[in-house]
Amino acid sequence: MASTTTPTVRCSTHGEQQENFVCQHIVEGLVSKGRVGFFWTTFDPGNSRPSAWCAACEARVKETDGEWVGEAEAHLRPKILCGACYDHAKRFHMGEDWQNKKRLFPWETDEVSVQEEGVAISFV
Ligand SMILES: [Zn+2]
Ligand SMILES: [Zn+2]
Repeated sequence: MASTTTPTVRCSTHGEQQENFVCQHIVEGLVSKGRVGFFWTTFDPGNSRPSAWCAACEARVKETDGEWVGEAEAHLRPKILCGACYDHAKRFHMGEDWQNKKRLFPWETDEVSVQEEGVAISFV
């Protein structure tokens, strides 16, 4: 069902999609094919694609008690990913076997279950 106010982004690959934010390293990791981890907030349970960040950002934000301030914020540099790219990034950074799947776009397969491997955290 279409939501009234979901912001969207025009992806050059996937067209008009839900807009999602991830840290710059997740995007860079996709480009360089290097896994950087995938963490997200659990404060947004209604959002199937909450804003996400890498392991290094996770380590930094732990230093600041979960606040995106100082070093944590300085390195975050959030980037917009379309919904399909977000799902792709999530699978990749969480350890999907990239080499065996390089021609198989994850968002075209059935619903993936990656939650059990997840590293979802909640800040208190
Ligand atoms: Zn990062
Ligand atoms: Zn996309």
